[in-house]
Amino acid sequence: MKYYITTPIFYPNSSPHIGTAYTTVAADTLARYHRLLGDQVYFLTGTDENAQKIVRTAEANNTDPKVYVDGVVERFKDLWRALEISNDDFIRTTEERHQSVVQLIFTKLYEQGDIYKSEYSGWYCTPCETFWMENKLIDGKCPNADCGRDVELLKEESYFFRLSKYQGALLKYIEEHPEFIQPVSRRNEMIKFIEGGLEDLCVSRTTFQWGIKVPFDPKHVVYVWLDALINYISALGYPDGQKYQQYWPADVHIMGKDIVRFHAIIWPIILMAIDIPLPKVIYGHGWYLTKDGGKISKSRGNVQDSFALIQRYGSDAIRYFLLREMQVGTDGTYSEDNIVERLNSDLANDFGNFVSRSLAMIVKYREGIVPHPGQDGPLELELKALSSEVKKIVNQSLEGCDPASALEGIWRFVGRCNKYVDETAPWTLAKKEDQKERLDTVLYTFVECIRIMAILTAPFMPGLPTRICSLLGNDEKLIRWEEADQWGIIDSGIQVQKGEPLFPRIDVSQYLTEEETKTVDQSQMESIENEVAKTALEFEPIKEEISIEEFSKVDLRVGKVLSAEKVEKTDKLMKLEVEISGEIRTIVSGIAKHYSPDDLINQYVVVVANLKPTKLRGITSQGMILAASQGEVLEVLMINKELPGGSRVK
Ligand SMILES: [Zn+2]
Repeated sequence: MKYYITTPIFYPNSSPHIGTAYTTVAADTLARYHRLLGDQVYFLTGTDENAQKIVRTAEANNTDPKVYVDGVVERFKDLWRALEISNDDFIRTTEERHQSVVQLIFTKLYEQGDIYKSEYSGWYCTPCETFWMENKLIDGKCPNADCGRDVELLKEESYFFRLSKYQGALLKYIEEHPEFIQPVSRRNEMIKFIEGGLEDLCVSRTTFQWGIKVPFDPKHVVYVWLDALINYISALGYPDGQKYQQYWPADVHIMGKDIVRFHAIIWPIILMAIDIPLPKVIYGHGWYLTKDGGKISKSRGNVQDSFALIQRYGSDAIRYFLLREMQVGTDGTYSEDNIVERLNSDLANDFGNFVSRSLAMIVKYREGIVPHPGQDGPLELELKALSSEVKKIVNQSLEGCDPASALEGIWRFVGRCNKYVDETAPWTLAKKEDQKERLDTVLYTFVECIRIMAILTAPFMPGLPTRICSLLGNDEKLIRWEEADQWGIIDSGIQVQKGEPLFPRIDVSQYLTEEETKTVDQSQMESIENEVAKTALEFEPIKEEISIEEFSKVDLRVGKVLSAEKVEKTDKLMKLEVEISGEIRTIVSGIAKHYSPDDLINQYVVVVANLKPTKLRGITSQGMILAASQGEVLEVLMINKELPGGSRVK
């Protein structure tokens, strides 16, 4: 099967920002998915360089338009590389291979009478160099706020494209092909618009020279939309290129909702007029808006440096955020807080934690060797059934250009895997001699779950498969789409590694705004003042009496400190990874002034193991460490006898 997918070509009039990257990331995900299915994929993106707007921007920057766009185009290519976009081609409308096809099609349409010469009339303001429609004039004068001068009726010789002739044929096509314009809300909008009547479109200008010249009348420049849309076939070498034969018609043109109209009306009519098949699907997605519902734009000053964001959080996390947050048919909300929230909860807590927890247990209980599984129990059968269900959801969602629903489905599986760890409690099985085979089955199921998670997420986060495969014995052949719901693929006996966390948690406090930083400083001051007040009191009073039952609710355990590091930008907080019964917990503790990480690593401490998790500086702390303190002196309680992590303290 062949699969041809395109993004629209972008205006290189300013550097791309992360909100606009959605289209390209979504198209890349679909392209990668189809490559995994074994399809022959062609993925096209590019830049639309012939707009008059470009000339104005270049003039404002005191440079030549071509020099200007060359620079901006490189920024687009850099961003796509940073986001691991796997496009097969990048077309620029200033390229000869594109211009010659536009001229060929323009001539053909003219010769067959679909383009004709006429006059474009409008009210012209000479100082503003602008044509105005009659209904735009204010008191018959130029409506430009700082002008208001007299305008004159001017007629400009122009070429027109007979859209009106094809109105009926286009409506009929849309009605007979319900999948042609998606989602359905955009389809309905388009039908209504076409039914309102199509007027012939002015497709040439003589007032400026930047652009593709009409070959038989070179004082005219081809209207930029007619020019731009043709990129989808010029890139394939229309009319007789081998790629054109192989890949046309496009399987999906994906784009933002604002430009669906051009793709659903002008483009199909061009194709009907030159008698070639229409694209199968035109998909219009929503926009990323800021928290207050505004557009992300340079002029609003809310654009963050895309490259800095990718460097800070990683390309996989940015891609995950963009794809997960935009629901089908609606707009998405963009903010850096949302990126951090998704990264910490979905990626670090759910996905990353399952991988590191389960591999750590194989290392601990089987020295990293994947054991041979015994008989499946009901829990394993449930996981297997769920993997088939989720694979179907992903297939259906991606066929419908809906990456968010696909990811939602995948995270059902991720969530179920985490629950499976708690339900099977390998740390308990490890203590019982007669549960050896059961533990083997559970540990084997863990690596299979990791493998399936890696396959399912591969189209969305292309950096992940390699990293996961390196933990599972470096076998890249583990990423086969058809095996996403097959089990028993990984060979027993292979060596696995715990590795570094796949998605380290982000400490939100590092990225607080100036205003927020002030608040933090103030609360820190207050806590220091409180501390001083406490010292003056000498001793805290003894709290009120509790019963033995109340005390026994507190589950105290010995925990082995595996790693310790200071929490950045704080002087009190230490982040510890503590092992309790084979489970690894992150605990944030206010002991950094009194201990260095080396004092703590490999020590056994006392942990309140059933304390509700809490967030400290953006890190979820899963427990508390006991320490004795008075005034400036503090000592962490440590166990000196050989008691393993998980031993009760009572
Ligand atoms: Zn004016």
